[in-house]
Amino acid sequence: MDTAAIFAALDLSPALLSGGPLAVRSPIDGAAIAQVSITEATEMPQVIARAQAAFRVWRQVPAPRRGELVRLLGEELRAAKAALGALVTLEVGKITSEGLGEVQEMIDICDFAVGLSRQLYGLTIASERPGHRMMETWHPMGPCAVITAFNFPVAVWSWNAALALVCGDPVIWKPSEKTPLTALATMNIFARALARFGDAPEGLAQLVVGGPEIGAALVASPGVPIVSATGSTRMGRVVGPRVAERFGRSILELGGNNAMIVAPSADLDMAVRAIVFSAVGTAGQRCTSLRRLIAHNAIRADLVARLGKAYASLPVGDPRAATTLVGPLIDHAARDQMLAALEQARAEGGTVHGGRTVTQGVPQGGAYVEPAVVEMPAQSAIVREETFAPILYVMGYETLDEAIALQNDVPQGLSSCIFTLNLREAETFLSAAGSDCGIANVNIGPSGAEIGGAFGGEKETGGGRESGSDAWKAYMRRATNTVNYSAALPLAQGVRFDI
Ligand code: NAD
Repeated sequence: MDTAAIFAALDLSPALLSGGPLAVRSPIDGAAIAQVSITEATEMPQVIARAQAAFRVWRQVPAPRRGELVRLLGEELRAAKAALGALVTLEVGKITSEGLGEVQEMIDICDFAVGLSRQLYGLTIASERPGHRMMETWHPMGPCAVITAFNFPVAVWSWNAALALVCGDPVIWKPSEKTPLTALATMNIFARALARFGDAPEGLAQLVVGGPEIGAALVASPGVPIVSATGSTRMGRVVGPRVAERFGRSILELGGNNAMIVAPSADLDMAVRAIVFSAVGTAGQRCTSLRRLIAHNAIRADLVARLGKAYASLPVGDPRAATTLVGPLIDHAARDQMLAALEQARAEGGTVHGGRTVTQGVPQGGAYVEPAVVEMPAQSAIVREETFAPILYVMGYETLDEAIALQNDVPQGLSSCIFTLNLREAETFLSAAGSDCGIANVNIGPSGAEIGGAFGGEKETGGGRESGSDAWKAYMRRATNTVNYSAALPLAQGVRFDI
């Protein structure tokens, strides 16, 4: 699909793509592909008021009917999958199959949310008082701001929006300023679902385009009870306290520094495949990308040699080409950060393999790099940081306790895994004394989660959970109800208050 065909298929008209102050560049070759309008800070009160008005209507629509809108969204996404996937590739530089995979994730969460719309269950609870019944009911909460990062430009919106919409909450989306086109296209797809649905309130799902200042207006407003923010820990450090200050609810999905432990019993062929996909996929720009390899000293040299071979044959280049596995970084600043991290790793005693800038056989103007493997003598300062690029630090270990301690000894707590065929090791890793991350896997890599599980992590990753399991509860408010169907009025805890 060429660029014009992608734009046409997604109703991205020339009017939407020109005349605005925000330049959109494709990381493939750095070329400007659009100049889009931005939302002025002065417009934000109206945006929030529209969401509030939509909330008053939408909260009363039965949840299964709300699910019907999400079902239609899933259908429209299926119809638009090829074009939207291609736009993800154009705007973010993901290889074709990952661009399509991102849209598939949107479809999957829609399917999940449709089922959920008939399962917003509360508990019934035994009352200590005769003739009383206690229960929990879950109610819509109000407008939900969704602030998203560049690297999953559409999937993260859908994880939040599909759940928020069935839970009865309008959504206000502030995408990364680097990826407004995929957001505009997603809103056009949503508009198709809305047209088929018929009677949804105006302002149910809105888009605001701009930088942190636009996000800040959502973060500050008591009219937005939920702020789901995905991005760097730096951003979360600002957003989290501001939302807390006004007693809002935040769902923070921040940086990761994900590790794999490879035990002596591991199936090394499988481990190598998992390592390469999770360290190099999306050019190392996933929050769950593998960044630290903790290999037992008995197999470490063998593993590094195998990785050397696998890395040597990795095709770096235009993400639209069928054979490419490593596309460009999002921009030259990201490449500079990668090179600076490698420099620091050398200064901290690391031996760097790969990691050079690639200029041959790739489109000119993009930031292409060879993925790097860095053998480190210890988990030094640079290893403890998230560098959003394909750098894999390798460290050795002797005992499992030592490996788990290394795995946990970073500020972030998103995703983790162990490769082992030893049941005791696997279960120890998953136990309370094991990985401290929100995601802990056995014999699969740390990246590429399915939507059925709750997604998120601990410590500086922010503690939020999105997507599957009971993550929907973050989008609703819980009411505890006690109903007295007796003719008496007993007080709890035996308290007497006779009048
Ligand atoms: P970023 O923090 O630069 O930006 C993320 C979003 O936050 C953007 O929309 C940005 O405009 C907005 N923002 C920044 N400062 C803000 C402020 N003060 N108030 C309101 N909004 C603000 O992140 P990025 O470079 O786009 O994305 C990469 C980062 O995102 C990595 O750290 C990665 O690990 C993380 N990430 C985490 C997850 C997860 O689920 N844990 C998923 C994807 C990406």
